Amino acid sequence: MSLYQSLALKGGKERSLQRFHPWVFSGALQNEIKKTAEGEIVRITDSKGNFLATGYVQHGSIAVRILSFIDEAIDVNFWIRKIENCYEIRRALGFVNNAETNCYRLMHGEGDGVSGLIIDFYNGTAVIQCHTSGIYKHLPLITEALVHVLKDDLKAVFNKSSETLHGAVEEASNGFVFGDGSATNLVKENGFQFKVDWQTGQKTGFFLDQRDNRALLGHYSKGKDVLNTFAYTGGFSVYALMNGAKQVDSVDVSKNAITLLNENMLLNNSQADNFNSEAIDTFSYFKLHDKLYDLLILDPPAFAKNIGAKHNALMGYKRLNIEGFKKVKPGGLMFTFSCSQVVDSHTFNQTILSAAIESNRKVKVIHRLTQPADHPVNIFHPEGEYLKGLVLFVE
Ligand code: SAH
Repeated sequence: MSLYQSLALKGGKERSLQRFHPWVFSGALQNEIKKTAEGEIVRITDSKGNFLATGYVQHGSIAVRILSFIDEAIDVNFWIRKIENCYEIRRALGFVNNAETNCYRLMHGEGDGVSGLIIDFYNGTAVIQCHTSGIYKHLPLITEALVHVLKDDLKAVFNKSSETLHGAVEEASNGFVFGDGSATNLVKENGFQFKVDWQTGQKTGFFLDQRDNRALLGHYSKGKDVLNTFAYTGGFSVYALMNGAKQVDSVDVSKNAITLLNENMLLNNSQADNFNSEAIDTFSYFKLHDKLYDLLILDPPAFAKNIGAKHNALMGYKRLNIEGFKKVKPGGLMFTFSCSQVVDSHTFNQTILSAAIESNRKVKVIHRLTQPADHPVNIFHPEGEYLKGLVLFVE
């Protein structure tokens, strides 16, 4: 007999779980689950009582998020097995004990089978971001399992969940849950150095998902005039600078981001004087400066956080790309991205197409970009493919 409460689905609603999709919508359940606390583990059965999956409760339209398709206990051993699995995959992908790249995503939500949980590893410090209050309740066990699996590779665990939980859990303040702040916050990515601010920075402190795309940008940077908009702490800017760009200009609306960006540029080349940065809104920068560039990067934050905001988001991407096209020299390249999960790649491509038409520029798609290997997509949950990018040759 399982310790966990069983929740039955309505007849015919079992199909998505049989196809290993990790969500149960509230409308698919026979009974309301308001009385079951968030984070509580439940067994999901079909309408006849046959076991389908084990998951945790979250109040909202996604009522249960699946953790396992086995009837098993979600205890510390479960979390050890999960994290071991993620760690072994990262080892197979070449991230573990890699002197050139010592920061990577260890746990990528649904892509690694745990909806709502992100763990990024920064040269000895794991930063955990819980996106649901349900998973937050399991944080002590997850931390214990991390320490058990990573052993000496792990110096500290930092909980960075207060922003993503939007105050849903009162005690969810950010801070170390293992170790302290004495571990280094300097990381290497493809041999380049970055200072990561997981305490006050955005997300877990660094955008690991652009690693491969930054390398591609580096490949095209030599001798170029580069403008990196929405630059954050300068991921793309450092690659451009270190790959021999003639000039690298960077723009971000956040002053803190620009301060760290300048530090990161000098960290890699203390002599560099061919870069500029400005804490300013991208559209205002475009208005104020006439300069044209060989290489332009547009990597805005998610314009649509939910499906309701999709239309306005598409208008936003179109407007941004129209303004962007105006800044690219004939024969230049534009790297343009969307990280909105609700905007799929087809829709994104169509939006860029309409921006190109409106700009009256001849445009060729030369690369189609996405997230890197440590941000896997569960094939049964294609919504997990959130990062989309195009590299455009602008004639
Ligand atoms: N390309 C970055 C990540 C970008 S995240 C990297 O590789 O690390 C999005 C960034 O856009 C954030 O740093 C945020 O501060 C910035 N931002 C948001 N709105 C902006 C605006 N209107 N103009 C300029 N920057 C903006």
